[in-house]
Amino acid sequence: MLETDVVVVGAGISGLGAATALAQEGRDVLVLEARDRVGGRTENVEIGGQPNEIGGQWVAPYQSELEGLLEELGIELFPSHRTGEHVYVGPDKRVTRYEGHDAPLSDAAGRSYADAAAKLDELAAQLDPDAPWEHPDALALDALTYEEWLRREVADDAARDLLRSFLAGGFMTKPAQSFSLLAGLWVIAGAGSVDNLFEPDLCLAYRVVGGSQLIALRLAEGLGERVRLGSPVRDVAWGDGRVTVRAGDTEVEARAAVLAIPPNLVSGIRFEPTLPPWRYRLEQHLSQGAVIKALAVYETPFWRDEGLSGEGFAPYELVREVYDNTPPSGSPGVLCTFLAGESAEKTGYLPAGERRRIVTEGYAAFFGPAALEAADYVERDWSAEEWTRGAYCATFDVGGLSRFGPDLRRPIGPIHWACTDISGLGNMHMEGALRSGRAAAGEVLAAL
Ligand SMILES: Cc1cc2nc3c(=O)[nH]c(=O)nc-3n(C[C@H](O)[C@H](O)[C@H](O)COP(=O)(O)OP(=O)(O)OC[C@H]3O[C@@H](n4cnc5c(N)ncnc54)[C@H](O)[C@@H]3O)c2cc1C
Repeated sequence: MLETDVVVVGAGISGLGAATALAQEGRDVLVLEARDRVGGRTENVEIGGQPNEIGGQWVAPYQSELEGLLEELGIELFPSHRTGEHVYVGPDKRVTRYEGHDAPLSDAAGRSYADAAAKLDELAAQLDPDAPWEHPDALALDALTYEEWLRREVADDAARDLLRSFLAGGFMTKPAQSFSLLAGLWVIAGAGSVDNLFEPDLCLAYRVVGGSQLIALRLAEGLGERVRLGSPVRDVAWGDGRVTVRAGDTEVEARAAVLAIPPNLVSGIRFEPTLPPWRYRLEQHLSQGAVIKALAVYETPFWRDEGLSGEGFAPYELVREVYDNTPPSGSPGVLCTFLAGESAEKTGYLPAGERRRIVTEGYAAFFGPAALEAADYVERDWSAEEWTRGAYCATFDVGGLSRFGPDLRRPIGPIHWACTDISGLGNMHMEGALRSGRAAAGEVLAAL
């Protein structure tokens, strides 16, 4: 039996952030990680001998706590490649090249989009990102689906379709009729504004030199032997001021535990005694979204030669978005997409080869037939990942956030919680993971 002050379950950014904060305060910590790597939803893959990412990757300027950590860790950012014209594929498959940040909507659609975005901003600004359930109209906002709100508030079809595509497809990664306006507003409030979340100049601003998994790798390096890989925690026995955690043959006794795992996975752990009923109820109303991230590799970023940025949106297609993920060296060319929400649900059944065809044909709709000739293809269906079971984040069903949100972070005896899924500012993003981990560490320090 190993003994420590605090046992942390999960070596994503939240768990490693919590463990680092505790260690900096002189506490003994041990981190148990199920996978044989750290980083959770951030994961580097090597393409052309250089790091690329198959999980989270962009850092937006509002992610201030994360940027502070990057500086501490000596990790640099580089501006995402977005130079050139972007491409929009409309409902009739018409391809339009455009510059700047706005998709080429008609004047009327543009005005409708701007009005609706302003309404979302106004509502999100009324939420406390740490406690959206406290909004005076939380029940009503949580009873209304995002789809219904779009129907009521956005008269123009193209504007509505784009707003649906951005929030439901791009972030919640589930259909717009399956989550509430309140749940969607929470993510906007977590980012600070609609622009911080949707505006490519902001949300796609930077990438991490060395790939985003480097953040977790460096944090783990700092913790050294206090991080144990290949240790899936399946049993937790808890009582007054003591907790015993078991992962295979490893048994750890501690004064407190931080469970830094996605909340949809908590039910996979056997607790002795069982957790209070409210905790199990909560989990039954949360589900992960669906995301398959796909990278296609080309000898060169051929689209750049044609004055294209490699970025595009196609709200009506399976391949709804595309980005230039070419490494800073400029070669090989890499295009990246997310088959998210309904696109993942529709294509998840198919063999990988079939999905590769769909993805490269989707890229060809933006950039022409050269996109069909990918030299390599890498994909990750995050729903198939045993230790995540979806992406980007676990979110509540309609009505769930106002009913169960207040219990999300409630400690149970010596057990505390962390994860981006339960964070306020930076919710759903690496920023939220870090903030959530540090907040849990603060809670534990106060409790010990
Ligand atoms: C495809 C994709 C694209 C994304 N894009 C972006 C982006 O561009 N920008 C951005 O900021 N964010 C993005 N994100 C989100 C970002 O990656 C996450 O918010 C963040 O990495 C979550 O960190 P976390 O520590 O909260 O959770 P996780 O990374 O999920 O960490 C939890 C850890 O717990 C481990 N674990 C689970 N169960 C157990 C158990 N029983 N025992 C032991 N260990 C366990 C897991 O293996 C995992 O390592 C993206 C995510 C994905 C998947």
